Amino acid sequence: MSHQQAHTNYMDTCAECGSATERVTTTVDYELEGLSITVKNVPASVCPSCGEKYIPGAVGIAIHRQVRKFVTAAHENSVTEGHVTLTAEHNDEQAQYTTA
Ligand SMILES: [Zn+2]
Repeated sequence: MSHQQAHTNYMDTCAECGSATERVTTTVDYELEGLSITVKNVPASVCPSCGEKYIPGAVGIAIHRQVRKFVTAAHENSVTEGHVTLTAEHNDEQAQYTTA
């Protein structure tokens, strides 16, 4: 019997310089099948010393899944190019679509 946890692994120490990181939200850009997608409000850790940014693996996977789902929906609506902005939340219903 295994316990499945939605575990978010934040990087607490910078792998580059060893400084303690800070929790922030950041913006990540994706290019996927003709669509340019900006995801805002992505939780991450950032190093105040060298600026290295770390997105927890579980967060990255969840966001990629959300982006993929959005691209599929866009294609179903014959939207195959352009730029969209999504606001990252932990459920897909919160995804926002803004035209740019
Ligand atoms: Zn650093």
